[in-house]
Formats: sequence, C-alpha cells, structure tokens
Amino acid sequence: MKAIQVKHVGGPEVMEEVELAVPEAKGSDAVIKIAAAGVNFIDVYYREGRYKAVVPFVPGQEAAGEVVAIGPNVTDVKVGDRVAYTMVLGSYAEYASVASDRLVKIPDGVNYQQAAALMLQGMTAHYLLYSTYPLKKGETALVHAAAGGVGLLLVQMAHQLGARVIGTVSTEEKAKLARQAGADEIILYTQTDFEAETKRLTDGKGVEVVYDSVGKTTFEKGLNVLRARGYMVLFGGSSGAVPPFDLIQLSQKGSLFVTRPTLAHYVVTRQELEERAGAVFGMLVGGKLNVRIAHTYPLKDAAQAHRDLEGRKTTGKLLLLN
Ligand code: NDP
Repeated sequence: MKAIQVKHVGGPEVMEEVELAVPEAKGSDAVIKIAAAGVNFIDVYYREGRYKAVVPFVPGQEAAGEVVAIGPNVTDVKVGDRVAYTMVLGSYAEYASVASDRLVKIPDGVNYQQAAALMLQGMTAHYLLYSTYPLKKGETALVHAAAGGVGLLLVQMAHQLGARVIGTVSTEEKAKLARQAGADEIILYTQTDFEAETKRLTDGKGVEVVYDSVGKTTFEKGLNVLRARGYMVLFGGSSGAVPPFDLIQLSQKGSLFVTRPTLAHYVVTRQELEERAGAVFGMLVGGKLNVRIAHTYPLKDAAQAHRDLEGRKTTGKLLLLN
C-alpha cells in the first residue's frame, strides 16, 4: 500500500510517499481501507518533533473508511462496516490497523469525507463547549482562529447554544466565513489589537471564556479580556507554545481558571467516544452543522497540505483522499 512516512522530523519535505505492507488484522484490531484522512495541526507538531513519535512513522490521526479485515477478538465491528476514528497515529495511508474499540460506525446520511472531517475537530469543538467550559446562553466567548478547522465548528456550536461569539481571524475572507458560521463580532487580530477591541465590544466587562488554539501570540492578552473568574481554555499552539508563566497572574487578573485540555481525555471510555461522536454526527444529519471541506489533496500531496495549513492559507477542513 501507499503511505506517507516521516523518517526524521523536520519541515513538510520530510514527508515521503513509500510502499508498505498492508497491515494484518490481529487480536482486537480491525484493518480499515481508508477513503479520507483528516489533516490536523497536531500532525504538524508530530512532524516537527514538538510531539514525540518513534521514527519512522506514518503521520495522521483521523480517517474514515471501510472495515476490510478483523482480528479474532473483534466484536465491535464487522467486515464491510463504514467506520471513522481519531487519536490513532498512522492515517496518512491507504490502510490502517486500529483497535476496534476506537472505531465508531458512520451513520446513514454521513459520507466518508464528512466523517473524516468531524472526528477530531468536531469532537474537539463539542468537548470544549459542552464539557471543558460548558458555555451558556447569554454568555460571551472569544474564539481565536475562528475560520479554521476547529474554529468554524466551534463558532457554529457556540452560536447555537445562544452565546455571543467574538471571533478573531487574519483576513477578510476568513472574517466572512466566520460570520456565516454565526460569529456576532469579528476582529482582524493581525491588524487590530484584539484585547482593546474585545474590551470595547463588551463595554469593558470582558468575556466569560476564551477558546485559544493560537497560543504564543494570543495567550497573555487573552487573560486580560476575561471577566473575574473567567476561563482560559488553551487548546493549541498554532503560533507556537505558550512560555511558562507565573500562576500569581491568575489571582491578579481576576481569580481566573486556566486549562490545557486535549481530546484524548474527553473520549476516554468507549461510551464517551460513542456519545460524543454520535452527538456531532447528529448535528450534521439534523442540518445544525455545516462542515466546510475546503481543501482536498491526493495522499501523495500531504506535504503541500501541511504547507498550506502552516501558511495560514486554509479555512475549514483539509483532507487527504485515496
Ligand atoms: P486551523 O485550521 O485552525 O489552522 C490554524 C489557524 O491558526 C490558521 O489558519 C490561522 O488562522 C491561525 N494562526 C494564528 N497564528 C498562526 C501562525 N503563526 N501559524 C499558523 N497558523 C496561525 O487548524 P486546526 O483546526 O487543525 O487546529 C487548530 C488548533 O487547535 C491547533 O493549534 C491544534 O493543535 C488545536 N487542536 C487541539 C485539540 C485539542 O484537543 N487540544 C484538538 C484539535 C485541534 P488565522 O489566519 O485566521 O490567524
């Protein structure tokens, strides 16, 4: 089978297309013939070496496809099932072997591309809004990178919860998309100081929660726009990692809360995984969620997909197609 391999960490050029053996179904694993694999920022962190994996490795943490073989202990799925998964390394390939208890069946009305687009970013938007800081009607949330993969889903779900959403983006094109997704206010944070503007938009009161995936360039100012006892939900570092900081700032800036969540800890049990994936797929089937699959690439062009994502050229979801 064809797969993308990282032999040593580095820039996008370290991703090479190679020929590997199709994995065999062993134990509790199922072999998936991948139709679409999601490209996510976490793949960049692994490729760069910011997150560690043993080289050589096949990157990618999200895919949808058909079960073509199952190990002797598999009871959750059968050959022919349409399934999707996330948080298992190795999806930039034509086939992958995945523990069957990490697979969710794709419901009718959801195609492979949509399923691959929602497993990681859709469930992330869901846990951030429903579990990490349960956002309530009438509250105000600041969402950074509001036209990104997670961003557009987060904005739509927050809007539907009845919250006021202030989104930040870098371009007018992205601003338009975030507005269409339901953002009430948009700040072009590359041109306007988002701290001053957020304070202005909230009459100096600030917001209940900041959902921050940008990190290095936004974190500190984000703390300044929170109300007393507000929540800083730092869930990524697209601009780089946040440097260490002194916890006393949390007291000085209003007895704030800071959390650094990750999806793996919000889909711990099979039940939680099925419920969260089911909720997100349900929103799509029910017409409450629009998934913008804006960029598709053949598998061999994975490096270009990374260049586009890191270059801030993309909106919504990027997929590699087989
Ligand atoms: P995005 O589609 O959001 O792409 C990243 C966006 O970040 C860019 O489009 C850009 O938007 C913005 N950005 C700001 N500064 C920079 C910079 N210096 N370089 C590159 N991009 C920048 O990616 P994803 O939706 O895949 O992921 C978003 C973030 O969420 C990532 O940090 C990722 O790690 C994190 N994440 C965390 C999860 C978790 O559970 N903790 C799960 C999923 C994602 P603009 O041009 O508008 O500034």
